[in-house]
Amino acid sequence: MSARIDILSGLGDKGPAAIVVEANVKRILLDAGGALHPGEAITWARGLDVDAVIISHDHVDHIGGVSELPPTLPLYCTPLVAQALPKGRAWQPLPERGTCRIAGIEVTTGQAGHSLGGVWIHLGVEGGIFYSGDACFESQLFPFDTPPPANIALLDASYGTYDQPQQACVDAISEHLNRPLAFPVPESGRALEMALWLAEEADARGLSLAIDPIIRANLKTLLALPATLRRSHSDERIEALLARPDASQPSLKLISDRDDTAAMWPGFHLLHTGYLTPSRCAELSAGDILWQRWNVHLRASHLVELADQINAEHVVPLFTHLSDPALSAWRTLLGARLATEKALFLNNHVLNAIPLNNRSLA
Ligand SMILES: [Zn+2]
Repeated sequence: MSARIDILSGLGDKGPAAIVVEANVKRILLDAGGALHPGEAITWARGLDVDAVIISHDHVDHIGGVSELPPTLPLYCTPLVAQALPKGRAWQPLPERGTCRIAGIEVTTGQAGHSLGGVWIHLGVEGGIFYSGDACFESQLFPFDTPPPANIALLDASYGTYDQPQQACVDAISEHLNRPLAFPVPESGRALEMALWLAEEADARGLSLAIDPIIRANLKTLLALPATLRRSHSDERIEALLARPDASQPSLKLISDRDDTAAMWPGFHLLHTGYLTPSRCAELSAGDILWQRWNVHLRASHLVELADQINAEHVVPLFTHLSDPALSAWRTLLGARLATEKALFLNNHVLNAIPLNNRSLA
């Protein structure tokens, strides 16, 4: 028994996710990431030959490349994630939490704590291959399920070696609330928990607030799911928010991010809380927007905790820089478990990097 892992995209930088796992003469693509930056070409799908694709969640850097794949390629995702597929794209249901077989491989999924309908993926080959997708331990709404043991863990390291607790982020955002603010956020992820927090803060401070209807609709969807798919004690908070009317002239606005720029929101300061594109970095440098992170990915100590939980012998930090000084920091955090190769081969649970001259997919 053997398995091969090819990280087509997502290693060495924050970039589209696309990983091929080959086992039992079948190939499964994990995620089909689209460009994070407008106009950027997707190159990982060129010449690709796989038997199925599994999508972890509905953010563009994980699902946006589906349009590059043959429309007949079997695609698996949860029903909520399927709503973000290109119109008419065929798909098959992936459990929100459970086990199924895809292309002859045992696939286990669980809640990743990051977004509505999002899951991590565990493949039952070679002692377990675990892919976290995007994952977080700190969500107030989305639970994180402890995965089964895995020999190799491909983990969301989007935050690099950053390790600030979520409470510190919330405290920092609180400092800004007494001025007119608009928060552009991805509507299926942190938007939901930011909505609850902002509503409670607005009430406590006597501030006016409006929340994008699509974010309200997603909270309603979350409330309609089985209770085990959201954190306990969140139902009352969600119900209270849904019953709360929007202010007609709010000083705080939570908006679905549609590439908003500061110029689109006169009278408001734009406060971003996630990944900044180069053009937004320029806006930040010019003082046109504000930025304060709201944790939705694994911070460094949680990434190590997850690797420990699943007994991973090898850990690949994804979606982050892997040159020094970051590389040395990862070595300190993960020791001999750190793996940074693009192509990996597992044979009887032993991991080998594939030499450079044999890296193309056969
Ligand atoms: Zn995501």
